[in-house]
Amino acid sequence: MIKGEMLYEGKAKKVFATEDPELLIIDYKDDATAFNGLKRGTIAGKGIINNEMSNALMRMLETKGVPTHLVKELSERETLVKRVKIVPLEVIVRNIAAGSFSKRYGIDEGKVFAEPTIEISYKNDALGDPLLNEYHALAMELCTRAELDMIKSYSFKINDELKKFWAGCGVTLVDFKLEFGRLSDGTIVLADEISPDTCRLWDAKTGEKLDKDRFRRDLGGVEEAYREIMGRLKKQLEA
Ligand code: UDP
Repeated sequence: MIKGEMLYEGKAKKVFATEDPELLIIDYKDDATAFNGLKRGTIAGKGIINNEMSNALMRMLETKGVPTHLVKELSERETLVKRVKIVPLEVIVRNIAAGSFSKRYGIDEGKVFAEPTIEISYKNDALGDPLLNEYHALAMELCTRAELDMIKSYSFKINDELKKFWAGCGVTLVDFKLEFGRLSDGTIVLADEISPDTCRLWDAKTGEKLDKDRFRRDLGGVEEAYREIMGRLKKQLEA
């Protein structure tokens, strides 16, 4: 597969064209940002970990009936994916209160919800990814009702499967962000990444944070946490 022109450079990834108009190459960087780009840094080796982890989790989800953009891992940092048009929504699934939810509603971090909850934001950096409801998304024609229903149903299914998987690693899945895309025929598939950048992952016994909150909150041991969580995932895959 020939890596063509760079189409897009985001905060954590670059996207390249290939000779096939239906396929793209994602290249994962070590750059880290938080608070809508206000905080910037580098997490050494993060790109390698996020590439491998996201691919492993998407492969697992495919076996459970969730379609994804994943085609093939090409190298430590590069993956071949199906070209999608991203639905401009950030879908956040939460099992436990944390982060912006705790802040917004004044609920202690760590409160376990009676059932998982979903919220959606408008994926728009200039506006700071504002929270919106389903009526807003439909009014703005960001997606159709059928797409929204499909996205919610996949998101809860993904949560069930990821929760189970991470529990097997001794890890509590607190919350995570998903993005979906449309293939050229309109099929909705899971896109973007699933990694410690986009999930809150706590050690099940100690509650230690094994995700990007170590970077966001200056907790130290950022690289170590990424390596620890990757080590656990690999052990679980081999089991
Ligand atoms: N998240 C993300 N990208 C974003 C916002 C959130 O990947 O632009 C993830 C974040 O890592 C966490 C979950 O979504 O696992 C919920 O994040 P929250 O809304 O609490 O925002 P934060 O506290 O990170 O600002």
